[in-house]
Amino acid sequence: MSFQFKIESASGSTRTGRLLTPHGDVETPVFMPVGTLASVKGISQDLLEELGVQILLGNTYHLYLRPGIEQVRKLGGLHRFMSWPRAILTDSGGFQVFSLNHLRKVSEEGVTFRSHLDGSEHFFSPERAMEAQIGLGADIIMAFDECTEYPADRERARSSMEMTLRWAERSRKHFEDHKHEVPWTTSHVGTAALGCPASEAREQVKPSSGDREDVSERWGTSELRSADSRGRLSLRDSGATQALFGIVQGGMDRALRKESAERTIAIGFDGYAIGGLSVGEPRSLTREIVEATIEHLPAGQPRYLMGVGTPDEIVEYANLGIDMMDCVLPTRAARHGLLFTSEGKISIKQARYAGDPGPLDPNCNCRVCTRYSRAYLRHLYASNEVLAQVLNTTHNLSFYLDTMRGVRHSIALGKGARFLAGERSRRKP
Ligand SMILES: [Zn+2]
Repeated sequence: MSFQFKIESASGSTRTGRLLTPHGDVETPVFMPVGTLASVKGISQDLLEELGVQILLGNTYHLYLRPGIEQVRKLGGLHRFMSWPRAILTDSGGFQVFSLNHLRKVSEEGVTFRSHLDGSEHFFSPERAMEAQIGLGADIIMAFDECTEYPADRERARSSMEMTLRWAERSRKHFEDHKHEVPWTTSHVGTAALGCPASEAREQVKPSSGDREDVSERWGTSELRSADSRGRLSLRDSGATQALFGIVQGGMDRALRKESAERTIAIGFDGYAIGGLSVGEPRSLTREIVEATIEHLPAGQPRYLMGVGTPDEIVEYANLGIDMMDCVLPTRAARHGLLFTSEGKISIKQARYAGDPGPLDPNCNCRVCTRYSRAYLRHLYASNEVLAQVLNTTHNLSFYLDTMRGVRHSIALGKGARFLAGERSRRKP
């Protein structure tokens, strides 16, 4: 089955829809939890399923360094490796590579960078980013782009945008030539469960030298092709395929955003992301650029706003017509004791909660809020217990997912995404 996007209801600029992926449907607008290293920190996959997560995000840069693309590919791809049967999106690695300010060198060909782990030198290009993402086998993968820094003058924003467009062409070409090489197997494609027992998976795995350098050298297309000859199902046989999204750049310049959108669309992708935002600019400017970009994106294809945001912001962007969002905020904040509730943000480390017997959020039905007190959560955090991270992350993710469920419901009722925020405030005591 190929990737599809269906709009199910629309209300003003906002809409609900469904991404049909080889690993299940994803209701939109969707917030995608970030599982950087094939793990949403502190939360097991069965709990993610229970929370209703339909799609996770993985970071190609981090997985490339550890455990390595070839290792994941040989183990059947990211879905099987992390035992996650539902949809996955991977980023291209570009954002992380560009954030290595002192450790990277950019050329037309690509980016040479040093690992933040051990200082070893690596090279990413559009072609290598595609190879890596095909090897990981996510359902949705991203073109390799340059995230323009903020602030940037117009000349710099334009030259960066032009390079992203050239890299988008190269990403698309490499993807078209190699998209049938994903490591999915028959029993894994189009099913809700991981039907293939571990022994079967192991039979498909070629013995590894275990040597990272050797592995990276063999991480090439000939190795991928030979995998097919060992009985691994090619996507041509199953009809399933990954989807490739393009990324619109252009800095904070509305005219460049329009041009970037039009020329990215001309290359042709399954969906379109708005990149280069949430990089330090004021929130009003983020919103302005999102609005200025959306109007030039095709209505019938998914729109993905990368790297946002707070609960209020994800409601706001859904209201503008964004279908997909991701952010480390709910999980990272949770690990620092910062919890999002229907009554606002709570810093659970504060002494004022030490004797508070009430639930974290009286309007939340998650397994944390229905069972534990603020006093207990405060104690766990203050005592540096591992359980604090688990429970805090569980609640924050529940809160984000509930927020998006409410947004979808509200849009379906024709009331727009903002309705929910209003409902929430009315529920305050
Ligand atoms: Zn809760």
